[in-house]
Amino acid sequence: MHINFVIVLRSRREIEQLRKANAIVAEVFQELKRIIAPGVSTQELDRLAEAVILARGGIPAFKGYRNFPATLCVSINEEVVHGIPGPRKLKEGDLVSIDVGVNLNGYFGDAAITFPVGEVDPEAKRLLEVTEKALYLGIEKARAGNRLYDISHAIQTWVESHGFSVVRDFVGHGIGTNLHEDPQIPNFGLPHQGPKIESGMVFALEPMVNEGTYKVKVLSDGWTVVTADGKRSAHFEHSIAITDGEAEILSRLP
Ligand code: MG
Repeated sequence: MHINFVIVLRSRREIEQLRKANAIVAEVFQELKRIIAPGVSTQELDRLAEAVILARGGIPAFKGYRNFPATLCVSINEEVVHGIPGPRKLKEGDLVSIDVGVNLNGYFGDAAITFPVGEVDPEAKRLLEVTEKALYLGIEKARAGNRLYDISHAIQTWVESHGFSVVRDFVGHGIGTNLHEDPQIPNFGLPHQGPKIESGMVFALEPMVNEGTYKVKVLSDGWTVVTADGKRSAHFEHSIAITDGEAEILSRLP
């Protein structure tokens, strides 16, 4: 992690722009939710997401980012993040993690949800519940006066108390007029450390939680991140803005 960085404070007008970008992200998830089922291919999900984003005047933020080839990152089971959509079809019992990024007029929205495909086993349900709750516990700590790694610590302690692990190699981030801005926001860390949180800061918080080891590796496609032990992973992300001292979830589903 780098040490010297500046966290940009966004004006009310800019936060309004970020709200609009994230509203498209939320709409993409609403549409995806309708079609996620066994037999649907990940490229069908990608096409639908791209159509929704373009219809709303946005640009898929991931497509072309460091040459990533698609609108969505779609990561199944032991895939953690950055999976590339393709002909693979969802199967009953899969966990499918979907990450969406939107650029609307130069302002970025970013969120992720892991969906169960059909009926999943009880351990998979527990992994999803613990990961989603970790995100909300992190969001609760994102308030003026707290320090940045209070968020990290809340996520890590919750996840580890349930016997799961937090991925180290990928982290949350600032977001605004770039998809990834400072600060980096690890999902692990010590409380009462890091910069003070202030109104105007905008973060994408995104716990990535593994059933087994936190260690990951990248497949030969150069993108797909998988767990080192082949066990499953889940990922929930929201973009949030600190407004009047409190976290407002910009990418919340209506
Ligand atoms: Mg993100």
